[in-house]
Amino acid sequence: MTRFTVMTLFPEMIEAGLNVSILARAAQSGLIDIRAVNIRDYTDNKHGRVDDYTYGGGAGMLMQAQPIYDCFAKVTEECPADRVIYVTPQGKRFDQPMATELAKEDHLVFLCGHYEGVDERVLEKIVTDHVSIGDYVLTGGELPAMVMIDAISRHITGVLHNEDSTETESFSEGLLEYPQYTRPEEWMGIKVPEILLSGDHAKVDAWRHKESLIRTKNRRPDMYDAYIASHPEEA
Ligand code: SAM
Repeated sequence: MTRFTVMTLFPEMIEAGLNVSILARAAQSGLIDIRAVNIRDYTDNKHGRVDDYTYGGGAGMLMQAQPIYDCFAKVTEECPADRVIYVTPQGKRFDQPMATELAKEDHLVFLCGHYEGVDERVLEKIVTDHVSIGDYVLTGGELPAMVMIDAISRHITGVLHNEDSTETESFSEGLLEYPQYTRPEEWMGIKVPEILLSGDHAKVDAWRHKESLIRTKNRRPDMYDAYIASHPEEA
């Protein structure tokens, strides 16, 4: 069982976004446990305030250290955290190898920032990893946390019924996945490539690999160059 705890000001976003489809089934089967904890419940301010102006001036508000720290203390008192991830545009870029690595942990705690971000002092105290989902700025960390939990969960044994899926899909071998087709054999005059109907698995695998190379070269030349550098015989 992998536990994901999300510290957030908007727990309803996490609950609505992740309690569906494959992840809902994985939670029901006891493979994952996703909890959203409201940082506002831990403020010692009688008005329920969690943010304040930034020292030194500047636009916008900053989340205060105290409610986040007290929330974290409560969460980890119940179950110690292996990693505490602050989702931030200033972090290391999230990718498939990171998803695979994080899937080996038992308890991941996510901190979602909002407004202009979070007081640096609490980040220094509790965070082990700063992670970004891309070079753009979102209004809050809830979507990045959901993106990461979804991608990580797919690497937990039993979450996907067909374990092969993560082995053959895009990024697993440094290439994008090949084109795929389902019934009918002909749709709007376009036929499924003949080789996929041949039943010859070796030929199908060779065709798929060739198509993966072509697709990666066209769509992600950066990935293709890296792949060819480690597989020069395929150039
Ligand atoms: N002032 C911050 C900066 O310039 O780095 C941006 C704050 S952003 C408006 C509010 C929160 O959204 C951040 O604290 C972070 O938790 C989350 N966030 C925004 N963009 C993100 C991204 N690309 N990846 C991960 N988290 C992000």
